[in-house]
Amino acid sequence: MQFFDTHAHIGLINDDPIEQLRVITQAKQAGVSRIVSINNSLHDFTRVYNNLKAIPGIYHAVGVAPSEVTNPGKDWINTIEENLKLPNVIAVGETGLDYYKQFGDKRSQIELFITQLEIAQKNNLPVIIHNRDAGKDVFDVLAERIPDAGAIFHCYSENAEYAKKCLDMRVWFSFAGNLTYRNARNLHETVLNLPIDRILIETESPFMIPAEFCERKRTMPAYITSTAKFLAEMLDMDLETLSKQLWKNSCKAFNLPE
Ligand SMILES: [Zn+2]
Repeated sequence: MQFFDTHAHIGLINDDPIEQLRVITQAKQAGVSRIVSINNSLHDFTRVYNNLKAIPGIYHAVGVAPSEVTNPGKDWINTIEENLKLPNVIAVGETGLDYYKQFGDKRSQIELFITQLEIAQKNNLPVIIHNRDAGKDVFDVLAERIPDAGAIFHCYSENAEYAKKCLDMRVWFSFAGNLTYRNARNLHETVLNLPIDRILIETESPFMIPAEFCERKRTMPAYITSTAKFLAEMLDMDLETLSKQLWKNSCKAFNLPE
């Protein structure tokens, strides 16, 4: 059985390059053979990319998260475009809107988001969406400018109705460890109402620790099996069938060979 972690901040699990390699080894031992490595800023991207670039099955997204809106870095648009040419860089992101913590102002967040959607379109790549308390604006922006290669709602946090509204677009919904929380009824209802081929899972390492590991300080890609097991039970599927389906979905979302 193999698993695909569609969203992990390897650089935030541990800053130490050797420890990062250890995290990947542990993931591979748990059957997690593909991981999309995510960074919030371009500076972090280069460090983590260089450390992990030689490892098969590790893919990378490059972009500027809404948290970096006031300081995206000098010449950030060109930097993203240059980095998109590197091997195994397969998506733009994470980008999106975050109105929970007040990063910059809404206008500048939206501009940062739109520019990255345009970069994704120009490079024919999918985009990884961060949405926190900004569902309406994320939807409105996406409805007009979603790249042809599609979008992945990472760590999905809206309800079933919102997901349904998005289904006409080329989008996937990625669920993190918080899906396994007993009180996450909103997410449970969403998952039960989504077409199976639009569902992905991720760890959002180190942040969203699955309930099973709640005593640990941080999560990591190896723990994705916990979310997968929970989802299999929820959907009344056996784990092996589900893992195959999720693998297929992830490859399609990121345009990778199966
Ligand atoms: Zn993230």
